[in-house]
Amino acid sequence: MVETVVIKGVTIRIDGLREHEGETMAHTFTETRRVHGVVEQRVFEESVNIRSSYFDIMVRTLELLPESHLSDVVAMNIIKIRPNLRVGGGSGQDGYIYISPFSLDNRYNRVHNQTLLHEIGHKVDHHYHAVDNMTALRQNFLRHVHHDGGTQSASEAYGDCYMDYFHRGASAFSGGFSHQAHGVTFDHHGETITYNSQQINEERLAAFLSVAPMHAA
Ligand SMILES: [Zn+2]
Repeated sequence: MVETVVIKGVTIRIDGLREHEGETMAHTFTETRRVHGVVEQRVFEESVNIRSSYFDIMVRTLELLPESHLSDVVAMNIIKIRPNLRVGGGSGQDGYIYISPFSLDNRYNRVHNQTLLHEIGHKVDHHYHAVDNMTALRQNFLRHVHHDGGTQSASEAYGDCYMDYFHRGASAFSGGFSHQAHGVTFDHHGETITYNSQQINEERLAAFLSVAPMHAA
């Protein structure tokens, strides 16, 4: 069982693996929560069988991306599969991208790892100041698509755009995918403008493409 794969200078590493009856498991997630002011820790004896195909999917995912994103943005960060992370992904203050082992087998991560794409989207955003460089109106377009997560923000929406763009291509913005826009009415400088879902999608794609290099030079 491989524990580390390096693809185009990017290291993918799985932490905390153990062998169990001939299989490679990432297991034990610890949940810390506060109940009536008392910190409580629960250890779940859940295990995920880490199959080498998960690495193949992540390699295939990284191969979708422009070289500059890998060399300038992701290569600085090791991608870690972290046993203690229950769902999704995240970025640590240590600069790493974390992926939950439990997310590896999610239906939406079986062709490309979309969780990984979303997290890399955040790194690309930070590196190129992508959302910051967008006009307020364009940030508004991004925000009008629901993000499946605790936080709703233009940055989260950017992460989803990045994910959809590289997983599905620009056609993802014209219909039939999970982050579809709904029609909306804006108040823009005192003027009321109504956009239908197709117009929102077009504006969102334009906003996304306007701020960071999305193609190999
Ligand atoms: Zn996010």
